[in-house]
Amino acid sequence: MTRERDPLNDMTPKTVAVVGGTFDPVHSGHVELARQLRDRYNFDLVVLVVAHDPWMKATRALASPGDRLEMVRLATVSDRAVVVSDVDIRRGGVTYSGDTVSDLALIYPEAELSFVVGSDLEGELTSWERTDELFSRAGIVVVNRPGTPLPRGGSGAPRTGPPLTSPGGVEAKMTYLTIDGLEVSSTQIRDLLSRGVPVGELVPDLVVGYIARNKLYGVS
Ligand code: ATP
Repeated sequence: MTRERDPLNDMTPKTVAVVGGTFDPVHSGHVELARQLRDRYNFDLVVLVVAHDPWMKATRALASPGDRLEMVRLATVSDRAVVVSDVDIRRGGVTYSGDTVSDLALIYPEAELSFVVGSDLEGELTSWERTDELFSRAGIVVVNRPGTPLPRGGSGAPRTGPPLTSPGGVEAKMTYLTIDGLEVSSTQIRDLLSRGVPVGELVPDLVVGYIARNKLYGVS
């Protein structure tokens, strides 16, 4: 049997958007973010990277890395230009975004990497660990989240901003993108699930099924 050539699989991505996250659990806001990075802002590839042990969320118990990875895989299974990466899980230990982009730079050596964060995280970026590695290997793309609009009030076309400087003196190229976002967070989803409230469209169906089968987040 012959297979048709798949142009996407033959392509070496030149622009890669990296969305690191805990994805505890992945929700439709993450999926929509990935779709718009690809379809509206034309990144060749969007990589969702599931953190092993995110240093920022050390205060509460998380679903296992394997469960979080599988849920992201299920959420993106129909999107060929969105892939899930386990580089942080395979490295193990505490996850730092500087290590994430260093690993991805080895996997996509010809690509320009952009590390994507929601506008809720922009203000704390320079206090992150290992920002020298992060800023030297990737540009930073800030997307609006409902409730935390872009500081420049951006709409439509990408905007650049003044570079952010890491404590070690490395400057990050800053770009601001407007996403027609969904007002949803993993915190909200965990809360709804633990109270037995249906999450409806806020979580992809395959992920809802996985959560139910594996009794995650207090679902009985
Ligand atoms: P939590 O509520 O547990 O803090 P979260 O919903 O922020 O989780 P993360 O896995 O921490 O989810 O998010 C990964 C990345 O996706 C972050 O950069 C975050 O800002 C961004 N993000 C999360 N939800 C949305 C959304 N609804 N719209 C746009 N970006 C989002």
